[in-house]
Amino acid sequence: MKYFSLNNKSHSSTFENAVVKGLAPDKGLYFPEEIAQLPASFFEVLPTLSKIEIAYSVIKNYVGEEIPKDELVRIIEHTLDFDFPVIPVEKNIQVLELFHGPTKAFKDVGARFMAGCLGYFIKKGNLGKITVLVATSGDTGGAVANGFLGVEGIDVVILYPKGKVSEIQEKQLTTLGQNIVALEVDGTFDDCQDMVKRAFLDTEIQNKRQLTSANSINVARWLPQMFYYFIAYQQLQLNNKKVVFSVPSGNFGNICAGMLAAKMGLPIHHFVASSNANNVVDRYLASEKYEPKPSVQTISNAMDVGNPSNFIRIQELFQQTFNELKEKLSSYSFTDLETEDTMRKVFKESNYVLDPHGAVGYLGLKKFLATNPDYSGVFLETAHPVKFLDTVENAIDHKLEIPDSIKALMNKEKKAFQIKNYKDLKAHLLS
Ligand SMILES: *Cc1c(COP(=O)(O)O)cnc(C)c1O
Repeated sequence: MKYFSLNNKSHSSTFENAVVKGLAPDKGLYFPEEIAQLPASFFEVLPTLSKIEIAYSVIKNYVGEEIPKDELVRIIEHTLDFDFPVIPVEKNIQVLELFHGPTKAFKDVGARFMAGCLGYFIKKGNLGKITVLVATSGDTGGAVANGFLGVEGIDVVILYPKGKVSEIQEKQLTTLGQNIVALEVDGTFDDCQDMVKRAFLDTEIQNKRQLTSANSINVARWLPQMFYYFIAYQQLQLNNKKVVFSVPSGNFGNICAGMLAAKMGLPIHHFVASSNANNVVDRYLASEKYEPKPSVQTISNAMDVGNPSNFIRIQELFQQTFNELKEKLSSYSFTDLETEDTMRKVFKESNYVLDPHGAVGYLGLKKFLATNPDYSGVFLETAHPVKFLDTVENAIDHKLEIPDSIKALMNKEKKAFQIKNYKDLKAHLLS
């Protein structure tokens, strides 16, 4: 399969190059030249297929011959080595839980798949050693650290803002050791991201290290997120209704994968992009004007994104045609107060504990179903509520049970280098 750059359709890349480089040389996002149509026979047997069989049938169309079948299956087996349950919450509403992976957020799927692919390409030869450099505001760092832990030929360097990630998130970044290094930055997430961007343009660093990023623009993180839409579909109780999926969205990589799955033939009829006060897409669908703004801080902070990097891929799925997109996508945004009220109400009425991101997803779904009663709804729970312990416990006025894996993590010792500025980062990367 070949990929083109969304800045220049005549630029063509292999899957391997798109994974290793992340972005095209013109800084465009990579996009597959062809969207495969899954045959009717696939959907006939879908209810009987294993997770691994489903994932292989889907992803082989985008990897092509570049990874042999047995290797690709091994990567998928490792990627999907946990459960993706669909659970009824109330009449006509089901939740797809994506937090049963090692770092308890959906990003485990993309991070593990990318680590597997990059690890394979390095093992195959002639790439040399690679340094994955990422800035994180919370969940990305943990998932990437865990996904790449122990992968031969890869060093991981993670920058995170001091005092601005949750205690659990910090432990997930700083306690692994081996090929994972955490840099605690005296600054904000934006400072971390600026330093990473600068390092990618620094020839002195380029001469010493081969850098790549592991954020959601990488095709190897984006595409495997399709897997759980298929796995969820297999489990749905639909009662002959159409299906709508509501996805809590920040950079729009997750929902974009769902919409790609639908383009391949998965019968999901509509999507809702649910967001917090960072509502550029909600405003776009209402006005046809795309006006990014600086991000504002909310309690669903993994979605505090002012200019979602994957939205351009969603537009490409609809040939950049506004009216076609609007038929398949709705978007609503909600305040922190509404999010907290919802966590409380759903806990009280359905005894289900939402995290702040899942609560936003639930709210978006409710709003859509209010005027579309012919649909059956699913929302995605993108992180385990204990990752946002204080916010959730305050909202529902109830203590959460901490899973054993998290308790064990909290007892591990944090190891991080303190850095203040770009000079410190550069010194670290050159040492
Ligand atoms: C990253 C993240 C999101 C947003 O996902 P995108 O693919 O960036 O839209 C939502 N919820 C949680 C918990 C996350 O970590």
